[in-house]
Amino acid sequence: MNLDHAHEKDLLWALKRHVMSSGRLLVIELDAEGRIRESNIAFRSRFAGFNRPDGETVASFFTSTSGESPDIEAGIAQRTAITHVLIDRRSGETFLFHAYQLGDGALLIGELANAEDSDIIERMGHLAIEMSRLVRDLRKTNQDLLMANARAEKLARTDPLTGIANRRYFMERLRQSIDHAQTRNRQLSLLMMDLDHFKSINDRFGHTGGDAVLIAVAALLVAKVRSADLPGRFGGEEFILYMQDAPLLAATDAAERLRKEIGTLRPCGEECRISTSIGVTELVPDDTAESLIQRADQLLYRAKSEGRNRVIAEPKG
Ligand code: GH3
Ligand code: MG
Ligand code: MG
Repeated sequence: MNLDHAHEKDLLWALKRHVMSSGRLLVIELDAEGRIRESNIAFRSRFAGFNRPDGETVASFFTSTSGESPDIEAGIAQRTAITHVLIDRRSGETFLFHAYQLGDGALLIGELANAEDSDIIERMGHLAIEMSRLVRDLRKTNQDLLMANARAEKLARTDPLTGIANRRYFMERLRQSIDHAQTRNRQLSLLMMDLDHFKSINDRFGHTGGDAVLIAVAALLVAKVRSADLPGRFGGEEFILYMQDAPLLAATDAAERLRKEIGTLRPCGEECRISTSIGVTELVPDDTAESLIQRADQLLYRAKSEGRNRVIAEPKG
């Protein structure tokens, strides 16, 4: 049998689980000393009057063909399962057992060796191959599922144009961060930004030019923020960013830097100048995500009305 080595252990455990529930195959697991550690019901009903023969030896149930106590040798993994011919001490019937190495012991799987069942070894081989395929398929299916899930989750939380957090995911994370900040008495600031005269960017450079600007601004935000901060696309040309452990002053500095850097972006050519207005506020004890955003939005509105291309921050209280 040519089985992938990496699957051998899994395969044997799967094989064990499979055969343990068999009503026909006799299954015993031996420990390193050759004592019975586990047995299935088919074995117990035939040999142990339904009792658990745990701790007993194979020799208390079987002799070998020579009449001596059987010496059970297990194969090295399932590649070389060794076949043992064992004679039932009470009935004298012959049984064929396949011995597999399992952990520090051995797994014995057997059947009464009557004429029709003489192909047991071959069938065991088929079973082992089948189990190996099953284990491999299961593992593959599992991996595929995990990857598909991860992809679906990522899709559900990102904005398709810019690849940053979409509004729904941003809100979910913002709520968690507010909760975190409020229970631990930590600071949190929020930036609300809106590109200035974006309509005219679209008018002059086309929708593709406008899209390029949005992509460039999102990429800049991702590149400039710390890992504890989260930028998101809140709406058309509106971006939002929360900063954990950032007091208003630090967040205002960051906003000012971002505003300047956004002004240097030229994603749709030299003629394409962009600017942004930003409102900055910080978390106060009774804030909710909504009240925090509403304050930042009002400050953003003020930045617009006071001439755009500026940051307006307001201290709490
Ligand atoms: P203001 O300075 O007051 O913010 O002016 P504005 O032109 O930026 O504001 P307004 O809200 O009037 O216009 C926003 C424009 O953004 C309108 C819309 O067509 C454009 N827009 C929204 N989403 C997208 C998008 O995904 N791609 C592109 N190219 N444009 C978009
Ligand atoms: Mg705008
Ligand atoms: Mg807008």
